[in-house]
This record gives sequence, structure tokens and C-alpha cells, in this order.
Amino acid sequence: MKKGRLFVVSGPSGTGKCTIISRVMERLENVSLSISATTRAPRAGDVDGVDYYFLTEEEFINRADEGRFLEHACVHGYYYGTPLDPVTETVESGRDMILEIDVQGAMKVKEKYNEGVYIFILPPSMKVLRERLTGRGTDAPDVIERRMNNALGEIAYIDRYDYGVVNDDLDSAAEQVLDIIKAEHCRVLDGEADKIISEYGEEN
Ligand code: 5GP
Repeated sequence: MKKGRLFVVSGPSGTGKCTIISRVMERLENVSLSISATTRAPRAGDVDGVDYYFLTEEEFINRADEGRFLEHACVHGYYYGTPLDPVTETVESGRDMILEIDVQGAMKVKEKYNEGVYIFILPPSMKVLRERLTGRGTDAPDVIERRMNNALGEIAYIDRYDYGVVNDDLDSAAEQVLDIIKAEHCRVLDGEADKIISEYGEEN
């Protein structure tokens, strides 16, 4: 059976990557979204086991020591990690898996999983990013400044990604991510050519 593909999506906070991913998930059937573990406190509306697995620092460190994360990283002062087993099981079962993780995590996954597809969501400009972060009305000026600096640090990794999608319009950004997923399913992967050639060699 053909394995599923792993799609890793990163991008600075405020670029709308979460919304793009939910649009994409609505349009595709054979794909699951990885649920990360984190030590940050749940926000209003966050559901444990749906949005994240909320863990204490001790629980998180124990799981990391037991090798239960595909990757983990410290983001904005909290630990975040991708549980390993669901990723392996999903991909082995032929379903695609989407990970929405920061650049540090994405680079760690890339070391282990080069056949993954790495997508970076960009804001139209830094000016628009600032307007979006300010417009949310949820963050203090120093937090916005920190996020703007972090954004530049993350964008510096763009050359490590396979695709860059600019989110100036939500519908077209989601459409572009869908197109990438469809195109990647047509990619001839390493080691696949021999199988295809021998299949076509038998006329039946
Ligand atoms: P938030 O707490 O706002 O949901 O997420 C903060 C940041 O953590 C985002 O950039 C998000 O992509 C990243 N993140 C979420 N889950 C993971 C994960 O499992 N691993 C890593 N490395 N980053 C994550």
C-alpha cells in the first residue's frame, strides 16, 4: 500500500496558517492534523486532546526522554512537541499528515524525514503583519515587537522550505496549499521508479 505523505507547515504568528490549514482540512478526506503536546496553559476555547495535549513540564520532559516525540522545541518560553506514534501510524496507513509547527521543529523533522513536504506561509509584507498583530487587539506592544522580531528570524529559514505561500488572500492561499498537496501526490519519489517500470512491464 502507498504510504501517506507528511506536510510540515510553518510561518510566523499572525500569518493565518491555522485558518489556511482548517480550510485545507475541510477540502481533503485522506488527511489528519497532528495534535501537538505543549506546556503552555490552555487559552479560552482550547480543548485538551483536540487543540493540544496540555502537559506539565515534568510530563513533557518524561515523554521527551522516552523518545515519544518526533521533534520538540521551546517556543515563546514553552515546550511544544509532535507525538511520534500518530505520525508513523497515519503515514503507514496511507493517510497524509499535516504538522503545524515552528521552524526549529520543522528543521528537526527534516533531518529525520527528508521526503516530507515543507511549506512556509508568508505574510504579504512586514507592514501587513504588524497591522494584523495589532488588529487582533490581544497583545501588548512589547509582545507585538517580539513577534515581529521572531517573524524575521523565522523568515530567514525560507530557503530550507520547498514552498512559500503568501497569504494576502485567504481563499487563494488555501487553494495554493491544496494545489501543492495535489502536485506532491504526483511526485515520483526516490525508489518508486523501478516499481512503476516493472508494473507497466506487465500487460494486465
Ligand atoms: P500557539 O501556542 O500559539 O498555538 O503556538 C505557538 C507556536 O508553536 C506556533 O508557531 C506553532 O506553529 C508552534 N507549535 C505548535 N505545535 C508545535 C509542535 O508540536 N512543535 C513545534 N516545534 N512547534 C509547535
